[in-house]
Amino acid sequence: MKLHEYQAREILARFGVPVPNATYAETPEAARAAAESFGGKAVVKAQVHAGGRGLAGGVKLVSSADEAADVAKSLIGTNLVTHQTGPTGAPVNGVLVAELTDIKTELYISILVDAELRTPFIMASQAGGMDIEKVAEETPEKLIRLATDPVHGLWPYQARDIAIALGIPPKSVRSASALIMNLFKLFTETDATLVEINPLVVTGDDQVIALDSKIDIEDDALFRHPDLEKLADPAQDGELERRAKDAGLAYVKLDDGSVGCMVNGAGLAMATMDITLRAGTNPANFLDVGGGAQEDKIAEAFKIIVDDPDVKAVLVNIFGGILRCDIAARGVVQGATESGSLLPIVAVMRGTNAEEGLKILADSNINVTFADNLSGAAPTVARVLAGGN
Ligand code: GDP
Ligand code: MN
Repeated sequence: MKLHEYQAREILARFGVPVPNATYAETPEAARAAAESFGGKAVVKAQVHAGGRGLAGGVKLVSSADEAADVAKSLIGTNLVTHQTGPTGAPVNGVLVAELTDIKTELYISILVDAELRTPFIMASQAGGMDIEKVAEETPEKLIRLATDPVHGLWPYQARDIAIALGIPPKSVRSASALIMNLFKLFTETDATLVEINPLVVTGDDQVIALDSKIDIEDDALFRHPDLEKLADPAQDGELERRAKDAGLAYVKLDDGSVGCMVNGAGLAMATMDITLRAGTNPANFLDVGGGAQEDKIAEAFKIIVDDPDVKAVLVNIFGGILRCDIAARGVVQGATESGSLLPIVAVMRGTNAEEGLKILADSNINVTFADNLSGAAPTVARVLAGGN
């Protein structure tokens, strides 16, 4: 689950990480009052679940309260498109009005879980700011990398090494090391999957401050953080993701794919994606309808898949167990009928009531091609996509 910057900064402050003074505002009037409280000089920042706001016009320095109100007015109610959002962008429902910081240098630091090393991993760089992705791509040697001990966590000497490698002025190394230790504590205690400070700044008077922050919390750990769970903002999710969540479906949209996959079980979903890829086609999504799904849920899953404009064919791969194939088949027919979708469907059904399921699909008037098994399904999908059948 992603947090907004205005929420993340409060968590940082709670863990003793210095952040600029700031107020969250949902109206131009509130933004004006906030800027006034900072003497007029402020920075107004669109609050969306995405970075890259500065380059997209979502972060503006202002020199008067009136200007803060104008900027807030131009941002609130719009959709901000950044290189991290999809083409439709994310809705701006509020802005953060922050006291202007006198920046000397912009640094970068993040903590994430490295799945391969199975441990929290710290990345840092002296080249922080809006071009960090370019730095990582073109000059990876400028990145400081540290895999932490999965049991012990971060040692103070490691935090100090990072602070020194970041070129923090000597008199601020102690406070910067403490900041890094606190970031790590926050990462662990909130069950975060990502804590990213970009930029971490050194101010004109050598203070070290987290100017912009991103925190993602592990969804499966939210049950033990009811206070964080309340910070969810589903309006930031794409429409399809929101519908999937409402229906209780595990759905992840994937870039550059054209094959919508409807599968039961996460393992089968992954295998289906692999086999689809191997046949030279790209899965458009990961979707697990789960074990005990009923027809309505299957129908909604189908509709979510075909409402994605990137999807050109649907691969239905059901291994009937707790979810019986006849129920899945009725759901697919219902979804195809209700959506009016004419997209070609390739179906594989095995397991409980497979024959009945296949008959339901065959007797319907949806556009379906059958395959005997998963390895046969992928080339069939490729053929269907190429316009054959
Ligand atoms: P992002 O583009 O979404 O990552 O938004 P940021 O909050 O990181 O802001 C983008 C850039 O705006 C920063 O890298 C800074 O260069 C600039 N900026 C943000 N806040 C301030 C500030 O208080 N003072 C100054 N001088 N620049 C700022
Ligand atoms: Mn930033």
